[in-house]
Amino acid sequence: MVKAEGVHKSFGTAHILKGIDLEVAPREVFCLIGPSGSGKSTFLRCINHLEKINAGRLYVDGDLVGYRQKGDRLHELKDSEIALKRRDIGMVFQRFNLFPHMTAVENVMEAPVQVKGEAKAVARVRAEQLLDRVGLSDKAKHYPAQLSGGQQQRVAIARALAMEPKLMLFDEPTSALDPELVGDVLDVMRGLAEDGMTMIVVTHEMGFAREVGDALVFMDDGVVVETGHPRDVLTNPQHDRTKSFLSKVL
Ligand code: ATP
Ligand code: MG
Repeated sequence: MVKAEGVHKSFGTAHILKGIDLEVAPREVFCLIGPSGSGKSTFLRCINHLEKINAGRLYVDGDLVGYRQKGDRLHELKDSEIALKRRDIGMVFQRFNLFPHMTAVENVMEAPVQVKGEAKAVARVRAEQLLDRVGLSDKAKHYPAQLSGGQQQRVAIARALAMEPKLMLFDEPTSALDPELVGDVLDVMRGLAEDGMTMIVVTHEMGFAREVGDALVFMDDGVVVETGHPRDVLTNPQHDRTKSFLSKVL
């Protein structure tokens, strides 16, 4: 579903991603861990072309991200084409970024109505189903300010799902939450995984990675240091850098 081949990304002279190779299979829960500044968020942003890579190849569902290949030349896609591709990728951030002036159900309906031109009545029914799926059917008419952080984050997940993405990217979705709210959000993510959603999850929740993850990558300083089944990487890391990182977070 996602394939990175020698992906490099620099900001000015700062070389951030230094040749990332990885592959995420359909229906896989792919967890990404690593120290602050190692390039995890940058990599996620490259996947939906919010950042342009400087070298290498990045594919989503078989298509080059952001470009079309003609012969051996690459042509950048038009903004409208990029926007179309982005619809297939749901993204959930540390901060929930809900529209504050819209209720939960309106937040979830917004993209299907505005972007896909879905009829409001249809979008509302689906939004209510999605809120039910994230355990918030009783909060549909609440505004973000009337919801806890964990509830807002679950609305954000429902909102991403409303576009029926092929792939979900999660960037530390629970790290801004009070500890007692983390579990509900992880439960929703676990449910998505059980339903077969392909997910890339940047997380510090090693319990989630161990129980739900199919693959775990440890990234440091813009390179993939170690990759494997979460159980193996977490219990028997092969590299000193992985060991040292895990000793701080486990
Ligand atoms: P964290 O765990 O703290 O979220 P991360 O692994 O997600 O860290 P990134 O946010 O990808 O790290 O950042 C990697 C490096 O790239 C950092 O040094 C950061 O300062 C730099 N960086 C990220 N975005 C930009 C940008 N738009 N312009 C310049 N530098 C940037
Ligand atoms: Mg980050």
